[in-house]
Amino acid sequence: MNGIVYLVGAGPGAPDLLTLRAAKLLEKADIVFHDALVHPDTIALAARAEKIAVGKRCGKHSTAQKFINKRLIDAARRYETVVRLKGGDPMLFGRAQEEIAALEAAGIRYEVVPGITAALAASAELGTSMTQRGVARSVAFVTPRVGEGENASEWARSLANADAGAIYMGAGQAEAIAVALVAAGKSASTPVAIVENASLPETRTIFTTLAGLPRLAADQLTGPAIILIGPQFRAREQSLRTSAVEEDAAPAPCRRAQSTLG
Ligand code: SAH
Repeated sequence: MNGIVYLVGAGPGAPDLLTLRAAKLLEKADIVFHDALVHPDTIALAARAEKIAVGKRCGKHSTAQKFINKRLIDAARRYETVVRLKGGDPMLFGRAQEEIAALEAAGIRYEVVPGITAALAASAELGTSMTQRGVARSVAFVTPRVGEGENASEWARSLANADAGAIYMGAGQAEAIAVALVAAGKSASTPVAIVENASLPETRTIFTTLAGLPRLAADQLTGPAIILIGPQFRAREQSLRTSAVEEDAAPAPCRRAQSTLG
């Protein structure tokens, strides 16, 4: 009897932005295959598991997808609980479908556990909603990255036709992105926010416009970064957003009780 492969979203970086379901599966996992971007504290939840890095980090070592697929199948034939831990949500720019196809072809059961995707962690970081009444009613999730042997995509046109967009895996191609979006019809004055390391203590945001985007040199960024585009991403002078840690200092139920008592 084969085991089950769980394709699990690890969230954007902060280890406590993990679902309870993911945490429970990690605790009972026999073997975990994880991406490079997953936080070490998250991987450490898999206390009894064999842990294998199959990480993808642009420009650095990565394991070929076909080989990962094969390792998942082999693991499911040997273990009960196999976890494939991916950054953010597994179903968004995570190559989950290739793994699912391989598992189905091999007759292996699988389950997908969603995670918080980078765009939504970045939007939380900024205190700026991806959708806004009367401002942004559509959001495009895109990447300019094209894999070897794949057809060119219409990502710029899709984003230009949406009110707002999140560009994954694009920080290294800032100039090409700006050129493509302006050519597709986006105004050069459209606000842009680049959020690096969303949800982590070292997070940083750079506000600019499409016209200013080419000046973003890739070497200014060291962590993973997402580019958010849309009218709502203009720099705001004041934000009263607190960090999650400060929120923890005063437990929410207590504050709520105080406010109802006046
Ligand atoms: N499945 C993942 C995306 C994988 S593609 C998800 O749902 O988030 C990897 C890209 O995600 C990076 O190039 C970057 O654009 C973005 N990314 C991942 N983690 C991030 C973070 N903490 N902050 C900003 N961008 C991040």
